[in-house]
Amino acid sequence: MKYCFGPVPSRRLGLSLGVDILPLKTCNLNCVYCELGSTKKYTCERNEYIPAGHIRAELEEVLCSEKTAFDVLTFTASGEPTLHTGLGELLAFAKGHTDKPLAVITNSTLLSDSQVREELCHADILLPSLDSVVLDSFRRINRPAKCVDLKSILDGLIKLRKEFKGKIWLEVLFVRGINHGTDEIRGLKEILKSIQPDKIQLNTVVRPPVESWANPLSKRQMEELKEQLGEKAEVVVDYRHSMEKGVQPILEAEILDTLLRRPLSIEDLQEILGLGAESVQEVLNRMYSSGLIKTEAFNNKLYYLPGDRAGV
Ligand code: SF4
Repeated sequence: MKYCFGPVPSRRLGLSLGVDILPLKTCNLNCVYCELGSTKKYTCERNEYIPAGHIRAELEEVLCSEKTAFDVLTFTASGEPTLHTGLGELLAFAKGHTDKPLAVITNSTLLSDSQVREELCHADILLPSLDSVVLDSFRRINRPAKCVDLKSILDGLIKLRKEFKGKIWLEVLFVRGINHGTDEIRGLKEILKSIQPDKIQLNTVVRPPVESWANPLSKRQMEELKEQLGEKAEVVVDYRHSMEKGVQPILEAEILDTLLRRPLSIEDLQEILGLGAESVQEVLNRMYSSGLIKTEAFNNKLYYLPGDRAGV
């Protein structure tokens, strides 16, 4: 299959059958946490980047196959799916071939375009993202192309809520030290009153980001943000799974968060994290080399503390 992939288990959507409708990294943002690498085609121009007929043919084959069991058909892209001019037509086509809900993951940048909003009305669930309403942080995290305007994004999201009858699950992805301060959250809460999403899904950097300095928040920090953002907010990061899998950025965030409260030895950290000495030592060595932590000896024992580059 060239355009369809999965089904893959998704924490946000269940068993998701994906449709990727763009060539790799065609986007109008260049997010520091992007797991697809740097943006190659940096554009706001809508176009039929891949012939819609080719995608339609494959979709028909996949959706007509009784073997394909899934919960949601998700339109996504190796970039921003609303840049494809055939999105509306493809959604309408899929609607005619499955009873399962259709979802679209979007970076929200083109929602101010009434044509895009009209096309998206064929979907059942929209997952737009909004990482910051503060211009400086938006630029630092999402690194928009010149044609992208934050105010238009916010207007587009508000208009979308008025026109779209399905579910809107807004995603906010937090990067340590950038978009989780008091002003950020206050601004976000204010705009959320107008956007009125059905869910606010809080995420952080759990997959290898394009910029190695883009770090995740700890579980405690994410839970605090959830409390601040109210009852519609949920944390969609699977911390336990990430810890068990030894996902480095999550382990680093957890270690840093713990060390901010008190200095700890490697034995203490092993106990808290439930991991073996070797795994913990490996992460500590990396964090030490990058200045995230430092050490101090006390009573012949080595303790770890947040370093100068902890940036929390
Ligand atoms: S919007 Fe999505 S595809 Fe585009 S740079 Fe950001 S994370 Fe990557």
